[in-house]
Amino acid sequence: MARVLFINGGSEGHINPTIGVVQELVSRGEKVVYFCIEAFRERLEKAGASVRTFDDQKFIKAFISGGRDYLLQRINGLLLTADIVIPGVLAQIKGERFDYIIHDSMFGCGRILAQILNLPAISSCTTFALTEAGLDQMLEPFFKDTSAEAAKPIIDQFHSLTAGLKEAYGVEIRSPYEVYCNPAPLTLVYTTRTFQPDGGAFGQSFKFVGPSIASRSMQPEFDLSAIQGKACVYISLGTVFNQAVDFYRLCLEAFGDTEYTVVMAVGDKIRISDLGTIPDNFIVNSYVPQMEVLQYTKLFITHGGMNSAHEGLYYGVPLLVIPQSADQPLIAEQVVKLGAGIALRMQSLTAAELLQAANQVLAQSSFRESAERVGASFRQSGGYRQAADEILKFKAQILV
Ligand code: UDP
Repeated sequence: MARVLFINGGSEGHINPTIGVVQELVSRGEKVVYFCIEAFRERLEKAGASVRTFDDQKFIKAFISGGRDYLLQRINGLLLTADIVIPGVLAQIKGERFDYIIHDSMFGCGRILAQILNLPAISSCTTFALTEAGLDQMLEPFFKDTSAEAAKPIIDQFHSLTAGLKEAYGVEIRSPYEVYCNPAPLTLVYTTRTFQPDGGAFGQSFKFVGPSIASRSMQPEFDLSAIQGKACVYISLGTVFNQAVDFYRLCLEAFGDTEYTVVMAVGDKIRISDLGTIPDNFIVNSYVPQMEVLQYTKLFITHGGMNSAHEGLYYGVPLLVIPQSADQPLIAEQVVKLGAGIALRMQSLTAAELLQAANQVLAQSSFRESAERVGASFRQSGGYRQAADEILKFKAQILV
């Protein structure tokens, strides 16, 4: 039995794939101490972790205070969370011993903590993986095209934040890549090499374990009999980019009074009453048990979040992807490339176009067949069990 320190942040998409990993590690005898925000305590405790938290409001405020216009500002935002996470973690684990650390590949300053605590580290990557060259390419427009006046304070802030962390904890941060991707001797990527863009570019330290789909015991009430045996269309823009009243109204217009039974999860940032009259063939909730709903879904209209895309395809559901931000356009591209769905642009989308695209995906069996093929490859990849195998293999090597 080893003691594992698990460091994560506050976003559902980065937490959910780790639930199965925690369950599996605990069932194989590891003791897991898991840091995240309070909102996820219950589901991680049910997975068997001992949960400790940091202040979610302070964490988000620090992250956002880096700025949102340029990628390097978001990287600075991640560095700014160090003041919230690191002292809190160090205080709460004082006097305890850990054998290794597993940290999110983006949130929670895991690479810095691994250095401070001198622990063997594993990175947990819930998005597509990125090489250093890939990140440099993403940063290139900022360094090439931004005016010196706008760029200089952002670059200066990066240097002063890394210098401050060096002074406080003696840690070296050599590049934006180390902050944005938290590389480690072992990186678990919760997708397959085939679904990962340019999957061949990643060396052996990257293990593509496949989507980590585990049942989540804490779920809202939902009457599944309302969608069983129906032509069910499920619509969700995930948990972050979901403040989209106009889009939800467009969906009501497109699918209202059609033959479809539509489940629409609109998140907790809007009021359902703001959507106006809800047609009888709609079930609109702020949050639904997505994994259960997907098992009865014929078409998933999604923003293309990594988890949502994985979860839909895992159950063989074709996707209509309407990317909102972040890596979603890339995920949409992969879905289209594999023939498992269609991508639409949110801008200027009309109700007629949306309905027409949905009809097309549902009528053309090749979309479902491709989704089922990808789903089968996801199910075979092992997911959280494979992740646990890789972790224990890594542990055996470091403990020699
Ligand atoms: N989710 C859910 N019910 C909802 C909305 C979302 O269970 O009503 C879950 C979904 O199953 C997925 C996660 O929230 O695991 C969303 O992650 P994703 O990467 O798709 O998008 P993000 O929220 O990070 O944009």
